[in-house]
Amino acid sequence: MPSIRDSFELAARFKAGESSAEATITAAFKVIDSRESKVGAFLQLDREGALAQARSLDALRRQNKPLGPLAAVPIAVKDNIHVLGQKTTCASRILGDFKAPYDATVTARLKAAGAVVIGKTNLDEFAMGSSCENSAFQQTHNPFDLARVPGGSSGGSAAAVAARMALISLGSDTGGSIREPASFCGIVGMKPSYGRVSRYGLVAFASSLDQIGPFSLTVRDAALALQVMAGRDELDATSSSEAVPDYQAALRTDCKGLKVGVVKSYFDECPNRDVASQCWSAVERMKKLGAEIVEIELPRAKDGLAVYYVVASAEASSNLSRFDGVRFGLRVNTPSAIQNYFATRGQGFGAEVKRRIMLGTYALSAGAYDEYYGRASKVRTLIVNDFKAAFGHCDVIASPTAPFTAFKAGEKSDPLSMYLCDIYTIPANLAGLCALSMPVGVDAQGLPIGFQLQCAPYAEATLFGAASALESDLALELVPKL
Ligand code: GLN
Repeated sequence: MPSIRDSFELAARFKAGESSAEATITAAFKVIDSRESKVGAFLQLDREGALAQARSLDALRRQNKPLGPLAAVPIAVKDNIHVLGQKTTCASRILGDFKAPYDATVTARLKAAGAVVIGKTNLDEFAMGSSCENSAFQQTHNPFDLARVPGGSSGGSAAAVAARMALISLGSDTGGSIREPASFCGIVGMKPSYGRVSRYGLVAFASSLDQIGPFSLTVRDAALALQVMAGRDELDATSSSEAVPDYQAALRTDCKGLKVGVVKSYFDECPNRDVASQCWSAVERMKKLGAEIVEIELPRAKDGLAVYYVVASAEASSNLSRFDGVRFGLRVNTPSAIQNYFATRGQGFGAEVKRRIMLGTYALSAGAYDEYYGRASKVRTLIVNDFKAAFGHCDVIASPTAPFTAFKAGEKSDPLSMYLCDIYTIPANLAGLCALSMPVGVDAQGLPIGFQLQCAPYAEATLFGAASALESDLALELVPKL
């Protein structure tokens, strides 16, 4: 398992009878046993469940029954997505003992494709954060430098794949939580267009922004995982019935005919010069592969961060009101019902989550609504219009994923400096675009640098095409020394 980089190869070997699913999953747990104590990616492991699932796959193969495209592939799932029978804690004390009552649609689809869920991964509490440091339970370490953060909020899922403890993992991306940790951990992380993937069984943070997406070591694997997960789901009214194209057929080795848009200031003003120069080299490489580079403007994108922290906090304050000590998870008993509510939420939520709830509640209050939520929604529309105009001139927009590489744990204690991590990723969520981060090199300290590509809503095929062409030309594999 550690030597195999891609699920195709793994599933093909299994189907050809070269290795059993049980041996594959046992090998995955061997890697976990040797590395997890250093990395801390998982909140729970399901060794027995995974081995049982592997044995049933072996039985199917012996009976020559059909096997799915992800047969025997070990996958890890962010702990805000339901996996039946396992806990869904959202890395929060308020859901510390909460067991998932059903499989999320993505989980069900991945299992049906033969994937084996090996465990649930760490995150910033309720997916609020950019470093995984807001988890109530443990710190996850960046496999490339254990003193540094893996990024967030899906840091556990990114670290698990980077450390080769799983081949594919799932994250959720509300403002960058798949792409930023992918960038910090030197792997591929993909946020689908809003509505492309069902959110049924994902604990909601900000419902108009959240999307589930895959982490993987290759673009082809991200395409395969999305293929399995994408498409209309009756259980999520916001999921789209737009047809799901064949993403494997969209993979390419050149960029001929592709127009790549760049906002010059994203490169010129990027604070980390290694990030700026290597991302610019990636743009030039795309040009060499046949792309035409066009300069574009996104004048309102700079307001994305401000808009996001009003809209996302407002939605979060509403979504998290369901954690009241009555219906789910933790209940702190006191002599009065109203005091139960205060005590449960007071003890159950961490500082960042409380900050968002307060900000969001204020932004939605009668006196402040127009000035905050109303105004933010209008600026959001302007950002959407900026992208519509930009995609009139180009097919894909290239930029750094994050303004810097992985930082040291504890380095960003001021919430505002943490919020800046997502400056390049947030606009895609506000506009419902699809986007991914892929590694293009390392900085002077050997830390991975992520390059972001963004496409118009539902243009995932174009996105995978561009990314796969660049990936095949780069022929880069970043392997942490663990
Ligand atoms: N870092 C951003 C936040 O803290 C984005 C989180 C996410 O995408 N879930 O809200």
